Amino acid sequence: MTKIAFLGLGNMGAPMAANLVKAGHAVEGFDLVDAAKTVAASSGVSIARSARDAVSNADAVVTMLPAGKHVLASWSDFLSAAPKGALVIDCSTIDVESAKRAHEAGAVAGALTLDAPVSGGVGGATAGTLTFMCGGSPEAFARAKPILENMGKRIVYCGAAGAGQAAKICNNMILGATMIVTCEAFALAEKLGLEAQALFDVASNSSGQSWSLTSYCPVPGPVPASPANRGYKPGFAASLMLKDLKLAQEAAAGVAALTPLGAEAAQLYALYVAGGHGGDDFSGVINFLRGGGAAS
Ligand code: NAD
Repeated sequence: MTKIAFLGLGNMGAPMAANLVKAGHAVEGFDLVDAAKTVAASSGVSIARSARDAVSNADAVVTMLPAGKHVLASWSDFLSAAPKGALVIDCSTIDVESAKRAHEAGAVAGALTLDAPVSGGVGGATAGTLTFMCGGSPEAFARAKPILENMGKRIVYCGAAGAGQAAKICNNMILGATMIVTCEAFALAEKLGLEAQALFDVASNSSGQSWSLTSYCPVPGPVPASPANRGYKPGFAASLMLKDLKLAQEAAAGVAALTPLGAEAAQLYALYVAGGHGGDDFSGVINFLRGGGAAS
């Protein structure tokens, strides 16, 4: 049994903390919002009065927060209250620069740190099947792996500090751009009188094949489990895709990397979200394309 502090008990954090409890760990949680604390408490997380209280006896600390500024503020608040040598893991999706700064703050405080953003969404957090993309020292990774295995299925070591965040945004930039062009192909097929199933049968067995097509097809029918079959209810919300695409653009600008399709994808999702579709699944962008830029 490990004593684990869990900070940020929202949509992802609450089920992740619940899985740590199920695995037999003593989990002390904290969130700024009462409703989040109540949900976590109902699955056996004991609720601390503050983040500093939560971490004061912890072997390991996990943070699952909205963005880089929240992570930096939270870490600078609690790090001095954590035991020396504690393992501190950030599972939030944040910008690479903030992730590196968090590692630096951790090192100054004598903590062992890991950036470990996830893919798999709320469903994966609940089922304990998340993928963790990890950046930090091999020693931090080795200590974190058995803890992360209680919340996920694939725990991937990506390299030094910030490498987990880099892997996450590169992957999601591929996903965003691939989804858009898959949607464009189905919308074009409709106008050319080509059946969606026929396009699927050809592309899924040839060079147009991708996860966006075969696991998450943006039209109803060919892949019965995809969000297209249930009115584009997420799944993976368009607002979160936009967040990740913006992080990718920020990182690309920081290192002068050329990412024209990533930039275009970010712009398209910004328009889709601005049209009131931030809560829809990201594959719903097909409706925006069908409507010539005005999703119904
Ligand atoms: P959420 O908004 O539901 O939860 C974040 C929680 O952090 C909130 O309850 C908030 O009150 C709390 N919080 C903010 N500042 C805090 C602080 N200083 N101390 C303690 N608690 C604090 O968000 P979420 O959907 O759980 O996502 C969390 C992270 O995971 C984000 O970075 C997101 O991009 C990433 N992510 C989300 C999904 C998803 O499907 N929801 C998938 C992959 C990755």
